[in-house]
Amino acid sequence: MKEKSQSDVAVLLGYAGNYRMLTYLGLGLSAVAMVLGMVPYLCIWLAARELIAVAPDWTRAAGISRYGWMAFSYSVAGIIVYFAALMCTHLAAFRTASNIRKRCLEHLMKTPLGFFDENASGLVRNRMDGAVAETETLLAHNLADIAGTVAMFISMLVLMLIFDWRMGSACLIAAVVSVAAMCSMMGGKNAALMAEYQAAQDQMSKAGTEYVRGIPVVKVFQQTVYSFRAFKEAIENYSDKAERYAVNVCKFPQALNLTFTTGAFVFLVPAAVLIAPGALKSGNMAAFVTNFAFYAVFSAIISTALARIMFAASGMMLAKTALGRINEVMDAPTLDITDSPETPKDNSIEFENVTFRYDGSDIPALENISMTVKPGQTVALVGPSGGGKTTAASLIPRFWDVSEGTVKVGGVDVRKIAPRDLMNRIAFVFQNDHLFKASILENVRAARPEASREEVLKALHAAQCDDIIEKLSNGIDTVIGTDGTYLSGGEQQRVALARAILKDAPIVVLDEATAFADPENEVLIQKAFAELTKNRTVIMIAHRLSTVTGADKIFVLESGHVAEEGTHEELASSGGLYSRMWKEYNQAVKWRISAEEAV
Ligand code: ADP
Ligand code: MG
Repeated sequence: MKEKSQSDVAVLLGYAGNYRMLTYLGLGLSAVAMVLGMVPYLCIWLAARELIAVAPDWTRAAGISRYGWMAFSYSVAGIIVYFAALMCTHLAAFRTASNIRKRCLEHLMKTPLGFFDENASGLVRNRMDGAVAETETLLAHNLADIAGTVAMFISMLVLMLIFDWRMGSACLIAAVVSVAAMCSMMGGKNAALMAEYQAAQDQMSKAGTEYVRGIPVVKVFQQTVYSFRAFKEAIENYSDKAERYAVNVCKFPQALNLTFTTGAFVFLVPAAVLIAPGALKSGNMAAFVTNFAFYAVFSAIISTALARIMFAASGMMLAKTALGRINEVMDAPTLDITDSPETPKDNSIEFENVTFRYDGSDIPALENISMTVKPGQTVALVGPSGGGKTTAASLIPRFWDVSEGTVKVGGVDVRKIAPRDLMNRIAFVFQNDHLFKASILENVRAARPEASREEVLKALHAAQCDDIIEKLSNGIDTVIGTDGTYLSGGEQQRVALARAILKDAPIVVLDEATAFADPENEVLIQKAFAELTKNRTVIMIAHRLSTVTGADKIFVLESGHVAEEGTHEELASSGGLYSRMWKEYNQAVKWRISAEEAV
């Protein structure tokens, strides 16, 4: 376990780059500080020796004040050096933290966009920030303390054995027993129990987050807290595991550990009793008493040193979790980027025997699909929910890469097109397009940062957003999400459409929203669609079939297969799935109209 965590630390330090040297310097200084901090104990011994030597005529003890000052100066020096050590380790820790952030972000830039659909960006950020916080504690504090503790232990060993090895060994026995007790709590078969305990703790904190997220549902449905069974069970499981670990594993060793760290002198006294007669005989009584005084004082340090080892050990565990979090981010899949990009020759889109499986899912979301869209055509994807429409559309801008087959734009496999080139050719509006918490201007301009204010206004106008801008206090400079400025779903979609219009890309991929279909918005959104799709190659996922009647071609996707393809007229009269959907759609419209008339 020790070796593993050391290599974890080494990996973390790898992120520090040249600042690693600063960490090493800090560790060295911390060790020096610790040794300096031990000198006062030596001074106590020197003072005691002098007092005993001159007893009972204390006035002859001239060196006492010198030792006092010496102890004071070394203490101060120790504090100053420790401070310098922490400066070094902190500088290195901050640099490491910023490097970890940079590397993670660089990596995330290469992950497919679909990754962010499955991993909420908040979660990714949490992992990154968690790792950074843990690294900071470890590199800035724990490592320095570990270096100090090691230095302390070594100098302690030296000091203990210098004066009287017999009494020194007696003190050390206590230390050895304590260390053995601590190791037994963490090692061997107890490690499994400890791991269970930690897993229960993790589980509880996850369930807690879920619980807080679910509070709105609880309030709306007037549920009691017991509806959060998972959370309750996680808490009970944790308390169960914690109790088991405490009672079965820790009770005895911890008692032993505490007894021996704080009562090191228990061994010292018998040792002294054994040695005393010999000392008396050889006339070394003064030296014996001095040494005994020294060990009596010094054994007190043992408990401090051992407590520090405990903290250091927990610091090593932090390295492991931090690295785990970093790896969760760094293990995100990346898109292969071609070295020799090709340029699409036109704006056609082609699916050739495309199969696509989501990670961890057995059933392919798309299976052996072939579709062709000629430049300038408008093509609609329709079909039952879960049929694979969104998946198919997201393969074109490489939100994901196909499992088998090829998706081509302009006759070139999308994987062979430079990502920037591909992105410049495609504007996409998806159902869950987010607006940033920024002004409308910034939101629209995200599509083309160099666009002028006038161009943004023109795009907003084309996307039928005039009414939105009018009612906002600061016009297009109003920041969305502040001061009660919230846009309805339909309004948000029109702003997203303005963004796509501003992008002015030759290919448009649209996932039409169903949820926001209040009649007024629907008309405006249709107009904005018309504006966006003019003279472009369009792939449109339509939920209201009225939108697709004019499409050049319709593909009906069902369970990941192309069930039918053709124009509206061909499909409506074919008696297949589409004609059934068309009939149902007309029924629904009739119902809606009669319902509206009835009001
Ligand atoms: P549609 O847009 O036609 O409603 P989708 O393309 O969203 O259908 O979904 C097609 C299939 O893929 C469904 O069975 C759905 O459950 C599955 N699916 C969609 N997104 C994911 C995802 N991120 N991870 C795993 N499976 C998914
Ligand atoms: Mg969909």
